[in-house]
Amino acid sequence: MSRFVFLDRDGTLVEDTGYVHRVEDYRLLPGVLEALGRLVRAGFRLAIVTNQSGIGRGYFTRQDFERFQDRLLSDLSQAGIPIEASLLCPHSPDEGCSCRKPAAGLLEQARRELGADLASSWVLGDAVRDVEMAHRAGCAGAVRVGPEGVDLAKAVDTILAD
Ligand SMILES: [Mg+2]
Ligand SMILES: [Zn+2]
Repeated sequence: MSRFVFLDRDGTLVEDTGYVHRVEDYRLLPGVLEALGRLVRAGFRLAIVTNQSGIGRGYFTRQDFERFQDRLLSDLSQAGIPIEASLLCPHSPDEGCSCRKPAAGLLEQARRELGADLASSWVLGDAVRDVEMAHRAGCAGAVRVGPEGVDLAKAVDTILAD
């Protein structure tokens, strides 16, 4: 079975300036390459799981998202970090979808399409909704990073101790 770490994007891997989507605003957060490298070497598969309601709200387009995402994936790939999928919710909150975090829809998608074993997988994110999604999906655990959580190195320590 496949153990994944599901990664939030904004505020976890890249600086979150609020609906960030312009390549000019792209900033990889410190410690990301080292942290993800450790997870990969430990045998975890990685996927990004991200709410992008800016698309549903009409603030930016799917193509803007893809362009920004390509920049991130290219940096990670050059550092030897494969991201197996970028799973996104493009909906605005009032659309009532089942994929907007904290709903577990994107993790269910990862189970179906990527063969993720959710019970042995982890979530890494900077928001309460990331942690809540992990609980709803029955994941092994979740670690909150960022100003209200721990730093990425500590988060990886927690996951690797599991
Ligand atoms: Mg976030
Ligand atoms: Zn959605």
